[in-house]
Amino acid sequence: MNISGKRVLITGAAGFLGSHLCDRFVKEGCHVIAMDNLITGDLKNIEHLLPKSNFEFHHHDVSKFVHVPGELDFILHFASPASPIDYLKIPIQTLKVGSLGTHNLLGLAKAKGARILVASTSEVYGDPAVHPQNEEYWGNVNPVGPRGVYDEAKRFQEAITMAYHTYHDVETRIIRIFNTYGPRMRLNDGRVLPAFIGQALRKEDLTIFGDGSQTRSFCYVDDLVEGIYRLLLSDYPYPVNIGNPDEITIAQFAEEIIKLTGTDQKVIYKDLPVDDPKQRRPDIAKAREILGWEPKVDRKEGLKETYAFFKAFSEDRLYEEAHHKNFDKYTN
Ligand code: UDP
Repeated sequence: MNISGKRVLITGAAGFLGSHLCDRFVKEGCHVIAMDNLITGDLKNIEHLLPKSNFEFHHHDVSKFVHVPGELDFILHFASPASPIDYLKIPIQTLKVGSLGTHNLLGLAKAKGARILVASTSEVYGDPAVHPQNEEYWGNVNPVGPRGVYDEAKRFQEAITMAYHTYHDVETRIIRIFNTYGPRMRLNDGRVLPAFIGQALRKEDLTIFGDGSQTRSFCYVDDLVEGIYRLLLSDYPYPVNIGNPDEITIAQFAEEIIKLTGTDQKVIYKDLPVDDPKQRRPDIAKAREILGWEPKVDRKEGLKETYAFFKAFSEDRLYEEAHHKNFDKYTN
């Protein structure tokens, strides 16, 4: 389908996933309206797009009323802190962007007659009792644990999105995103991949939380973007898992990073964070069937690309970005 000329609002546009989506939709010839409050996002991720005539940036917090002049065809709601470290630092904003922010954007979609795709997460499954996770599983979430602010905001997001679909006939799409990696991840977001690669580059020991037997399944960002694109253009309003089912333990993952980076540092063990899911792997039967989608980039290839991105950092940036967590100036 040719979507050239369509007007697309992307929230969280300066973040890891948002910025890759901006690239994709600009490339498709859309007019991209990028929005971000820059708390966890970084303009560096989209500065190459700023000179383009089909790209504009709005510095705005979508938890407050969202005004976009003119027509809108699509809204992609990707604004949210998305790593445990971030949402522990800014829990109220995490709750607000998933709830009030989503409400504002659904209202905007309704007013403009736009189709909206919201970014949900495998966190809606919590510490899952069903493995692998399919879309029919309702999850095992602790609402008052440290991850509750993110998990419950995302569960509310799904509920209000379905309600706008059912009661207001808004065209809605819900993607449940599993662990994703690639260039433009933030060095200090606490996620395991930038943590390990950053540690290797700074010649620090690699920190495994717990005994490393917990599993994750990592999807390369280009595969994820293709899945989002296909879901947006599909007519399927219910949640769809997008992720890579290739599951490994965190201990194995550390070994892969050691091999990739050639670091001679050792692995050290730290306490497992509260409510850290023990296992996670998407069942992607639905994405295969409905979208004809499956991941194409294997971990070796994806990790090479990602390592090249971080390796290009100057020594100063490697240290500054790892230790600079400047959320203090923001109030909840
Ligand atoms: N993890 C780790 N060392 C780190 C950062 C994370 O062992 O320095 C673990 C973490 O406890 C979790 C897994 O790696 O079990 C993935 O963590 P991440 O924060 O990347 O994602 P999530 O837990 O949200 O899947």
